[in-house]
Formats: sequence, C-alpha cells, structure tokens
Amino acid sequence: MNSFSYTRASDVSSAVRAVTADREAVFIAGGTNLIDLMKENVARPPHLVDITRLPLNRIEELPDGGLRLGALVTNADTAYNVEVERRYPVLSRAILSGASAQLRNMATNGGNLLQRTRCYYFYDTATPCNKRNPGAGCSAISGFNRIHAILGTSDQCIAVHPSDMCVALAALEAVVQVTGKDGKRTIPFADFHRLPGDTPNVDTNLRPDELVTSIDLPSKGFPDHYAYLKVRDRASYAFALVSVAAALEMDGETITETRLALGGVAHKPWRDTEAEAMLNGIRATKDHFEAVGEAIVRGARGFGHNTFKIEVTRRAVVRALQHAARMRRTS
Ligand SMILES: Cc1cc2nc3c(=O)[nH]c(=O)nc-3n(C[C@H](O)[C@H](O)[C@H](O)COP(=O)(O)OP(=O)(O)OC[C@H]3O[C@@H](n4cnc5c(N)ncnc54)[C@H](O)[C@@H]3O)c2cc1C
Ligand code: SF4
Repeated sequence: MNSFSYTRASDVSSAVRAVTADREAVFIAGGTNLIDLMKENVARPPHLVDITRLPLNRIEELPDGGLRLGALVTNADTAYNVEVERRYPVLSRAILSGASAQLRNMATNGGNLLQRTRCYYFYDTATPCNKRNPGAGCSAISGFNRIHAILGTSDQCIAVHPSDMCVALAALEAVVQVTGKDGKRTIPFADFHRLPGDTPNVDTNLRPDELVTSIDLPSKGFPDHYAYLKVRDRASYAFALVSVAAALEMDGETITETRLALGGVAHKPWRDTEAEAMLNGIRATKDHFEAVGEAIVRGARGFGHNTFKIEVTRRAVVRALQHAARMRRTS
C-alpha cells in the first residue's frame, strides 16, 4: 500500500499552486488512467490534486468561429455535443471509437491528452522500461512488440500514444490552452506530444506545474469530407493498432486541402504534411491516395511482431481517404 494525500482544488490558481508547492504532486481528473497506474505501482504520486470541481467543464464558442472544449468536459459530453457533432464530426467519431461508454462518461478531455502508453512492459514493473525508469532499457524492442510504433521511434522507446481523440485533434490543428505558475500559454497540438528520442519518460511538452484548461478547435472542422478509421483487434473496447483521421476540403472532384493524422503508429499522433500536400489541387482517385499511403510509410520500421502495421497503415490511409472523399464507406 502506498499512502498519498489528497486535496480538492477550488480554482485554477489554487490547483497550480498545489502542484508548484509539491513537485511530486499530480492532478487527478476522471482517474481512469491515473488510478490504474497507481494500482499497478507504475505511478506513486505522494499527493493528488483533484481538479474535477474546477470551472473548466463547458464547451463555448470562440470569437474566431472556433469552439473551446473545457479540459474537464467528459469525452462523452464532448462527442455528443451538438456543435461538435455538426461542425467537427471527425472528432466525435474518434472519441466514440475509444474505450467504453462508462469510461467515456468519466474520462475528461485534459486527461485524454495526458493518458500514458499502453505498452505492456511499461505496466509490468518486473521488466526494464526507459519510460518508467530512465536508463533501465527497453523490453519491447527485442520483446513482444505487436502494438508498438513503426514511425518516429528511437533506440530508447517504441511505445505509441494510445488516444483516439488526439488523432482527430491533430488533424483539426487544435491548440491546447494551459496555465502554470508563470501564467498562461498556448501550445499548438503538433507540439504538445513528443517523440521518444533520448527522453521517453517525458511524454509531452507540458511543464509539471501546468494545468490544461481547454482545447481550442479552429473554425475549420471539415464536416463534409472526413473519416475516422480505427483498425483494432475487437470491434469495441480496444485500443487502435492503426487509426487514421482524414479530412478533406473539396471543390467538386478536386481536393483543395488535406489533413491526415495517424494513431497507433508513433509516440504522438503522426502527421506527414509533405504527404498531405501531394493531394492538394488534384482529383480524388484511388491511385493518388495509394501514392500518399506509400509516402507515409516510406520511413516506417517494424520490430518483428508489429511489422504488419506498415501494410495496415498504408491500406488504412487509402481507405480513410476514399471514405472522406465519399468514394466508399469505412466498416
Ligand atoms: C480499459 C480502458 C480502455 C480504454 N480505451 C481507450 C481507447 O480505445 N481510446 C482512447 O483514446 N482512450 C482509451 N482509454 C483511455 C481513456 O480515454 C483515458 O484513460 C482517459 O481519457 C483519461 O482521462 P481522465 O480524466 O480519466 O484522466 P486521469 O486518469 O484523471 O489523468 C490522466 C493523466 O492526466 C493528467 N491530467 C488530467 N487532467 C489534466 C489537466 N487538465 N491538466 C494537466 N494534467 C491533467 C493527470 O495528472 C494524469 O497524469 C481507455 C481506458 C481504459 C481504462
Ligand atoms: S517501448 Fe517505451 S514504454 Fe515500452 S518498454 Fe520500451 S521504453 Fe518502456
């Protein structure tokens, strides 16, 4: 049994003060990931700062035509929000493809961004893991690595970020609003999560004293041409092996803008803007989509059990783009 103390914060500044005063204190929101980590002895925070009563539980219009998703709005309330469904359906689809109804009712938007990898060795404290214990080694690289990354890996870690929601947020180019001891700042979604490099223990560019207050969606939501395709072992209640959020702007048959983000393949939601640009100004055809799929996996590397993901990714990109262009259904 690890003992810990508990405080409930009543406003943003007292929450930030609490984690600034104690460097080992952590925020707890829905608890659906953190409590599991504590039960498995992977995380042993001596102090929990409960943020569930902070006034960050609303979805609000932004002056520029975008939408602000409070960090404490649940994943369920976000996915079923009328404006999210109407203006950002790719986000709604992505969230609803994740976890289970009960989990989505507890899980918060801020917590979803900061959930930790599902690498089996990360959860197994009997095995070496650089993310859990820097310098210990990586058990996955030469071990069982079926769920692991094929893009952006390092020789320190090949874990993937497990979120579905974050894949859609990456495609939509959301921005994350945070508040810390030095004030507020804005982090573009592409800069929020990190690749493992030499510091796989650091998942994001959020500082330890910073609280995510909201996730802001730009006005452009791609409601007419979008797809979220999730390839997984079971039809529900399973993390993505590979997922693709595809969003297109089209003028007739011609693509004018492309957004593609991939989940289950890297330590962060994966964007390849050069591959996206290949489609701009050309007709939506399977041949063109196949060229993009090829380009995205060109630098991919398999580690044995997960090598199948390279082909799955290539095909999933094509299929998601076809669906977004309304050429065929995903199922
Ligand atoms: C069985 C199971 C299946 C799942 N399947 C999926 C799936 O298929 N797809 C998917 O995307 N997810 C899945 N999830 C993950 C789930 O979505 C996350 O656990 C959830 O989103 C975390 O949110 P939370 O509010 O419960 O976070 P918590 O567990 O409370 O916190 C998680 C982390 O975020 C930090 N944190 C929370 N809020 C903030 C904030 N506002 N600012 C700064 N730090 C913060 C905490 O300190 C902690 O480190 C699954 C989870 C389980 C248990
Ligand atoms: S892949 Fe990353 S999380 Fe998994 S064992 Fe290796 S270092 Fe740990």
